[in-house]
Parts: sequence; C-alpha cells; structure tokens
Amino acid sequence: MSIEPPYPELGELLTLIGEAGSRLSEIQATEGAAGNISVYIGWQIEPRRLFPIASPIDLPEPLPELAGRTFLVSGSGRRLREIMQDPASNLGCVVVDEGGQTAQLFTSPRRLFTRPTTEFNSHLAVHRDQVGRSGTNFHAVIHAQPPYLTFLSHIPRYRDEPFLNRHLLRWQPETIVNLPEGVGMVPFLLPGSAQLMAATVASLRDHRIVVWAKHGVMSRSDQSVKRAADRIEYAETAARYEYFNLRNGEPADGLSEEEILAICAAFDVPQTVF
Ligand SMILES: [Zn+2]
Repeated sequence: MSIEPPYPELGELLTLIGEAGSRLSEIQATEGAAGNISVYIGWQIEPRRLFPIASPIDLPEPLPELAGRTFLVSGSGRRLREIMQDPASNLGCVVVDEGGQTAQLFTSPRRLFTRPTTEFNSHLAVHRDQVGRSGTNFHAVIHAQPPYLTFLSHIPRYRDEPFLNRHLLRWQPETIVNLPEGVGMVPFLLPGSAQLMAATVASLRDHRIVVWAKHGVMSRSDQSVKRAADRIEYAETAARYEYFNLRNGEPADGLSEEEILAICAAFDVPQTVF
C-alpha cells in the first residue's frame, strides 16, 4: 500500500499523530512519558516553516537508500497525551542526509526535548525493513504500553504465540478481521537493545502488531497513524476480555474456532492463525 496524491500536508500529519497519542492515553497505554510515535514520509516535504531550527544528528545505522526522506518522531521524554496541544513542541522532523550516514533534526523554537525518542533505533529499523520490502511511501510506527496485553505477557503460557492468539481472537468477530495474522510475541529483551530491534523487525514482517513481553507493544500501518493506534486498541480490548475471563474463573467459551472460520469465509479474511 502507498498513499496516493494529493499527499497530506505536514500540519495534517502532526494533528493525526496528536489524535493517535490522545486516544492511546484514553485507553491508558501511555502512562507518564511511556510510548513513542514515528512516521516515515516518502514524498517531498518542507519542514522549516514549522520546524526552523536544524541540528545534525547521527543515525543509529546508515540509511543510504532513504537519503532525502523524512521522519516525524516524538521527542525523548515527551508525553503522547500532550502532543495534541502543541505538536511542534513535542515532535521533531528528521531528514536523512545524502549518503545516509547522518541526518538533520528540524525542531521548533518551542521544542521541549533534546533528542528523538530513545526507541528511535527500533522505529527506524522497522520503517527501513517495511519500506524496503513493500516500497510504501508512508509508514507509521507506535510503541505503547497497554496494561491488559502487557499483563497477559507476564503469564508464561501467554508468551506462546499460538496460545496467545487463540485466546485473544475469540472475543469479538472484528478482531480476526482487523488482525488477520494475529499478534506477534517477542520474549522479554532489554529495552532499546539490538536484540529487541531485530526480533521486532522480524515479527512485524508477519504481523501488524507485536507484543514485547513484560513491556508493551509496537504496531505499524502503511495507511495512517490512527490505524496503527487502532491496532493497539483492538488487541488491548481482546486482552481485556481475556483478563475478565481469567478474573472470573474462566466461565466463558468465546467464539469457537468454527465460528471464527465462518466469519473469515464470509468476509474473505486471509487469516493465518487458525
Ligand atoms: Zn516502553
């Protein structure tokens, strides 16, 4: 998937990032300064009206094939719920330099941070992998910490990906439609580490959202920032039902495999879980 022209303007993209941040805050997936958002823009954009200050930054790894391309990214320590009030003070605009070794960070005079989010390396690795594979001109990545999904990942049996998906996808007919590949599961790995980055890239090749065990989730979309946020909300809602069931002594059976397969047949859903 790619976005067709006329492309959204920078101001519109900033508003959508703010709205996604607010929604994730409403579902309690971004306590304090937890969570971060970034967006890859594959068309030409002029950042300097909103972000007039340029400063050089090093990239975590060279991105020669993305020279001249742009990323919007939340600032380190910023709160996703506050982006909406003033996107330019909470977000930066990163334009990759010729050769792809370094980049320019464009910011507002009102900026409230010094560096992009510390998770920017994972975001960039996922963007790079997805853009390289699909050639998309737009890609959004969100990290958040939704409590029900994260709680389930603290229970050993839910860290088994097939077990997790059979238990999450049984609560609402829409879940399999929105997450036809289910949810990926990555074991606990040190936040910000190269290991977490590599495992996330691999899992997001086959899924639209991945759980980082005992930490949170990362989701992606090549259509919009809000779709990436929706994916977190769908998975978190399923985890909430699962939690209700556990909490109440597991009285519910949920949708049967047969019922889920009937939904997939009726709506032509190319699911890969059952
Ligand atoms: Zn985190």
